[in-house]
This record gives sequence, structure tokens and C-alpha cells, in this order.
Amino acid sequence: MSNNDLTMKFLRDMILTVDGPAGSGKSTTAQALSERLGLTYLDTGAMYRAVTWKVLQSGIDPDDREAVTRIAEETSLEMEIRDGKPVLIVDGEPAGSEIRGPEVSGTVSPVSTHPGVRRAMVRIQRKIGNRGGIVAEGRDTGSTVFPFAHVKIFLVADMEARTRRRVKQLDQMGITQTKDEIRSNLVKRDEIDSGREHSPLVRPVGAFVVDTSGITIEEQVRLIDEITRKEAARLGTLYIPKGKRNPVSRGHSFLFTICRDMIRFFEWLLYGIKVHGSENLRFAESFFFASNHISYYDPPFVGSTFKRELWIVAKKELFQNRVIGWFLRNVNAIPIDREGFTRATLKAIDKAFEAGDSLLMFPEGTRSKNGRLKRFKPGIGMIAYRSGKSIVPTYIAGTDALKDCFLRKRRLEVRIGRPIRIPEEYETDDRKKDYDTLSMMIYEAMKMLEDETYA
Ligand code: C5P
Repeated sequence: MSNNDLTMKFLRDMILTVDGPAGSGKSTTAQALSERLGLTYLDTGAMYRAVTWKVLQSGIDPDDREAVTRIAEETSLEMEIRDGKPVLIVDGEPAGSEIRGPEVSGTVSPVSTHPGVRRAMVRIQRKIGNRGGIVAEGRDTGSTVFPFAHVKIFLVADMEARTRRRVKQLDQMGITQTKDEIRSNLVKRDEIDSGREHSPLVRPVGAFVVDTSGITIEEQVRLIDEITRKEAARLGTLYIPKGKRNPVSRGHSFLFTICRDMIRFFEWLLYGIKVHGSENLRFAESFFFASNHISYYDPPFVGSTFKRELWIVAKKELFQNRVIGWFLRNVNAIPIDREGFTRATLKAIDKAFEAGDSLLMFPEGTRSKNGRLKRFKPGIGMIAYRSGKSIVPTYIAGTDALKDCFLRKRRLEVRIGRPIRIPEEYETDDRKKDYDTLSMMIYEAMKMLEDETYA
């Protein structure tokens, strides 16, 4: 495939997210972009609105978490093209204009805070968008739904511009509301959307901020179109076609190669290991791998699936014995203090990346007792961010029940997720907040792999 063909391929498979507060111009921008780039348009706000409309119709209390969640789970939602326009289909029928009315606008934010509602919506959105070729718009599409989106846009606008747009939009639908009512609805929704615990409205790490207050829609769309094409071209040049060697790695040490190949052989022979998503690594870059942790076998078992020069962070107690310590260091283990990152650890990590190698970390810190993903230790967002590398979430299942895998009652599985890339041009406006956001993004991406594992 020529470079141009590859660019076109990546453009076709692109996941593009447009997030921002109400009235920042998301819908118009996302729709225009989807038409221009030939991608499917996914309006996530309309989904929360459709559920809210059903809640209002059924007369249940919007604060009744269980009843509202049940409605969200029972609702079927799809995106279809009708008469050349993208339409949200709710339980088989096109969504009506009621979902844009003041009644729904006044209730949608409280409804959207329920974790069960979010889980149900995110599941549907991923089902629609995971194949790629999509422009998704909403509040959390770049942070929670598709943290690995190829291009993330965060739209902002001043309150005056946002109110003006909403007035015009409602006017066109024949809905009258005073300017003050509209403004106070926007302020209130901002507050609830940004303050909620689950997937709040936040600028995703790596997102380009576009202030739409003073520029025209055409200018906005052209700007984002350019960013998107540039990213598709960059991915095209990074891509390693089948049969070609990864030019990044510097070649493995003898001991590392022997150990890795032996582990791979035993995994295959004894447990029939299944690795999903290896194609996500076909790029000439080094990666920051983040895996879940359920057993002492995870580091070698996860690490052996990557076929790359890899360093693995391991707790420092393991290095106390001189012989074992020597061995671990020679199979690329980096000692880490459980209490936090010491200078020596950070230096070793930097050195690995400088050499063009990759790194594997276990952000939960200790093994999960019940086998399900735990909260991350602090620090992972910071380490991942400062590495400047693409972050690849991975998920292993079965190492906590190797006997069952041996008897083929269970399957030993490793899932390799899509890289979360932070563009070089990215400029943060709040580094500390970005560390937390990035940690959340990695968590969400890993959680998605967990959902796939146990689907
Ligand atoms: O984008 P729109 O204004 O139609 O979204 C309506 C509401 O739906 C938002 O104010 C927010 O409460 C909720 N929403 C959300 N997450 C999204 C999209 C919308 O919580 N991804």
C-alpha cells in the first residue's frame, strides 16, 4: 500500500470526538465534519435526551436511580441515515423534536448523572463507534467513550455566543424561551455536567481546544478537517505493513529473548493462550503499556505477547536476593517502590524510552483479589504523560486460574487495546488535572477490554 492509500485508509477508519459544553457549536461542527470526511455522525447528547424524554413520559422521578437506569437499559438506540441526514432511531422510531424542547433540557443533566444510565449509553455508543469511521459528539466521548480516538476536539465559547446560538436553534424548531431562561439552563447544565463523579465534562488529554466564539462554522470545520487529515497521514507513515520489521526496537538481549520465547512456547503448549488486538501494535513507535494485575504470572505472560524490546516495572522486594536480582535486571525489570516513584525508577524508565524501548506497568499497584479492575494508584497519569509515548491499555484474564486454563475449562487471554496518543502539538492548561484525566482515560480503556473479556 502506498503512503497515500494508507492515509485514506486511516481517514476512513478514523474515530474523531468533539466534546464541549452546550451551545459551543458541537452539533453543527460534528455534522459538517462527518459529511466532509464521509464518516458516520454519532450524537451522544441526543441519546441522553431520548432516555430523558422516556423518563418524563413514564412519569417516574428523574432522581430515581434504579427506575431511570432500567429505562436506559431497555431503550434501543441506533443511528441511521434517512433522506441523506443522520437520524437517531429510538425503539425503532426516529427521535422527535420533543427531545430538544425545554422540558427535556431541564431534566437531561440530572438523568445523565446516574452511573447506570451512563454505562448503558456508553455501551451502545461503543458498539456503534468502535469499528471506526465515526465523528462522535458529546461531553465525554474523547475522555470516557473513546479515549483512544485518533483526533479529539474540545470546543469552547463564551456564554454570550452560546446563548445566542441556543436561541437561534430553538427558534428554528418553533420553541420559544427567553434569553435569560436559556442562559440559566446552560449555566446549570455546565455545573451538573462538569461536577458529576462519572465521566464528567472535561477536556480530554490530547484534545485540541477550538474557541468558536469569534470564528465561523466554515473556519472551524476547515481547521479540524486539516488536523484530521494530518493525523491520518502521520498514522500512515507510522504504520508497519505485514512482514516488515519494527524499525524502532534496538534488538533484544540474549537472556530476554530466550526467556520470552520459552514463556511463549509454554503459554501456547499448556494453555492455548489467545491474544486479541496485536494489530494495534503495528506502528513504528515505542509504547507505554498499562495492564490489569491478577497474578504473579502477569508480568511475563503479558510482556511476552508484545514482540518488542520491553521493560517491566516490578516491586523492589523481588530484587533483594542477589541472584534473582541479577536475573530480573537482565530480563529488563525495573525496581519500583510501592509507596511511589523514586528518582532511580524514573531515571530507569527514561532510559528505556530513550533507547526506543517500551515499558509495561500495572497501575493498580497490587493484584486484584476478585479478578476485576481496581482503582489505580496515584502517579500513573503522571508517568504516562511525561513518557510522551502512546499508551496501550492491555487486559489479561486466566492467570489467576492457570489450572483451569491447563484443563481448558477456561481460556488464558490477553487483549491489546488501541493506543491513546497525545499529539506533539498538545499544550496543557492544567498539568495536574491532566494527570488525573489521563489516568481516568487509561482506566476507561482498560475497563472496556474487561467488558469485552467477560461479554
Ligand atoms: O449535547 P446536548 O446539549 O444535546 O446534551 C444534552 C445533555 O446530555 C447534556 O447537558 C448532558 O447532561 C448530557 N450528555 C452527557 N454526556 C454526553 C452527551 C450529553 O451527559 N456524552
